[in-house]
Amino acid sequence: MARKISIIGSGFSALSAACYLAKAGNDVSIYEKNSTVGGRARQLKRDGFTFDIGPSWYWMPDIFEKFFNDFGKSTKDYYQLDKLSPAYKIFFADEVITIGDHMDKICEEFERIETGSSKPLRAFIAKAQDNYDIAINKIVLRPGLSPLELVTKETVSRVDQFFKTISSEVRKNFKNPKLVSTLEFPVLFLGAKPSNTPSFYSFMNFADFGLGTWHPKGGMYEIIKGMKALAESLGVNIHVNAEVEKIVVEDGEAKALIVNSERKDSDIILSGADYHHSETLLDDTYRQYSEAYWKKKTFAPSCLLFYIGFDKKLKNINHHNLFFDTNFETHAEEIYDDPKWPKDPLFYVNFPSVTDPSMAPENCETGFFLIPIAPDLEDTEQLRKQYFDIIINRFEKRTNQSVQNNIIFKESFCVKDFIKEYNSYKGNAYGMANTLMQTAFLRPKLKSKKVKDLYFTGQLTVPGPGVPPSLISGKLVADLIEKN
Ligand SMILES: Cc1cc2nc3c(=O)[nH]c(=O)nc-3n(C[C@H](O)[C@H](O)[C@H](O)COP(=O)(O)OP(=O)(O)OC[C@H]3O[C@@H](n4cnc5c(N)ncnc54)[C@H](O)[C@@H]3O)c2cc1C
Repeated sequence: MARKISIIGSGFSALSAACYLAKAGNDVSIYEKNSTVGGRARQLKRDGFTFDIGPSWYWMPDIFEKFFNDFGKSTKDYYQLDKLSPAYKIFFADEVITIGDHMDKICEEFERIETGSSKPLRAFIAKAQDNYDIAINKIVLRPGLSPLELVTKETVSRVDQFFKTISSEVRKNFKNPKLVSTLEFPVLFLGAKPSNTPSFYSFMNFADFGLGTWHPKGGMYEIIKGMKALAESLGVNIHVNAEVEKIVVEDGEAKALIVNSERKDSDIILSGADYHHSETLLDDTYRQYSEAYWKKKTFAPSCLLFYIGFDKKLKNINHHNLFFDTNFETHAEEIYDDPKWPKDPLFYVNFPSVTDPSMAPENCETGFFLIPIAPDLEDTEQLRKQYFDIIINRFEKRTNQSVQNNIIFKESFCVKDFIKEYNSYKGNAYGMANTLMQTAFLRPKLKSKKVKDLYFTGQLTVPGPGVPPSLISGKLVADLIEKN
């Protein structure tokens, strides 16, 4: 008889695991507390505007393709993928750097900023490509059970790269501070400061400059819709508005979920919800990690977000825009070292309607503004307003236009919403950072050490934060369940 597997949550990792487990012949049910699937990658539709609530950068297209290929499908069966050209723009205080869609264009731009910089750039990206092949095709596909998983002939010969930081590596090769920030940006997706991230993680730079930035037509939610359709075609039962209140353990074995006060008997339970929250669904004796453990961990940032409908087309903008016109290090310190609301925040703005007209009404623009902040900060309407004023004024100045009278509506999302909507620990947006001491076997485990038949997946486990790692996390846990 097929084993009954109950999954908590419907983010990328849970949907990924559900597909693999259903394909292996299990009877899989998903229980999601919110009214739609997708977790942090849900969608907001309002007055003809379409917003991705969370992720907006489609990087590492090979990983998405591999996921669908595992089911005899292709991304093309579910969404149209376009490579963005240019990939993005970075606004500094006195100039704009444009990142093109292939290395030749990027090298030209680097030369414009720092003569002679294209040569070290090509060498840096070649090394990053080697790291990508090792990390993405080998290391991240291991379940984090033992330190030996990291020991391969390739990693041993690169051991120095685990003890040097990406920050020092970049600074060794590039002097211009704008190029330094440009090359330090990709590892921010791993949730930690570049000065606290091993230089081996330069594989993110290859993902950026080597593989490019893509856009699924209609937005990132199209991936979720594709995965939901795939899961349902494999027989997964998806329940929304289904809040899990308890994981029932009997004689040390996970036996059932309590969902909206009803018992759902299960042979195996897998949680794709935030790990800390998942463990609070267990009686104390069955939790593996104490509050002190979580407190000590470096969490990836939270964010203050604004979803804005503009009633005109905006000028001088791109699909992805980074505003690095204030001090990068100071803002990073205010996130990681001395957590507080940043004095002069860097921010990111996404205008998908620049390249994809389906995402806004005619002659309008869909805008998503994001300020990374430390998790657990005080979150009030007044602070949200204060920070909106700061960034919208800077946005107007840098892009040389006025937009404040063209806002039809504006919605915000911050720490309190991350906690309420996703049961996120301290309101983190991107899970637990991927620092050296929080990598691979040093991350929270996929399989419970205390409860039989209980498993975990998602951005707090292996390999870490981001959409591609979440897809991989789902596969890793499904493989582990099958193996056990
Ligand atoms: C603002 C923002 C921007 C981002 N940008 C990018 C980007 O550009 N590119 C990128 O690759 N990544 C990005 N990320 C990261 C990426 O979105 C995440 O790493 C990924 O979506 C995490 O997926 P997950 O499956 O681990 O968890 P989640 O998506 O958080 O899914 C967990 C699910 O569990 C549900 N749940 C929680 N508790 C319960 C309960 N008791 N009962 C039932 N269900 C429950 C939640 O509602 C949620 O649906 C971004 C994230 C955010 C927030």
